[in-house]
Amino acid sequence: MKEVLEIKLEGMSKLSNIFAYLLSERLIEYDAFAFIKKDAIAVDLSHASDRLTLNKMIEMIEDSLNNLELKDNYTITIDKERIVIKIINTLLVEELLRKYGYQQDRLLICPHCGYVTIYPELLREHIKIHYLL
Ligand SMILES: [Zn+2]
Repeated sequence: MKEVLEIKLEGMSKLSNIFAYLLSERLIEYDAFAFIKKDAIAVDLSHASDRLTLNKMIEMIEDSLNNLELKDNYTITIDKERIVIKIINTLLVEELLRKYGYQQDRLLICPHCGYVTIYPELLREHIKIHYLL
């Protein structure tokens, strides 16, 4: 896989922060993380473990979406080098936004790249990578 994998979100951009957070929680195990990019999410794979395959990545994306109660309400396609997630019923997203909105407010976002976490210690640790280049 490339160093940065783009995940395009169609119909759920308002949930992108919380989705990026849920995905990052799963990616930690593979030394990768997700960050926000306008209407998409990108996954930094520059330090990722070889065990992180595309299938594994899709499995984690599904897991994160199901965790957001979007089960059976999305399609995942691979378009060139990008993964595209399309929401089938966008009305449900509005409903979920009401439910998860407060959690979205608790998220901390890296000012340099858009990495999302709820843990201040993790954000502090993460920000260091921007100064080590
Ligand atoms: Zn960052």
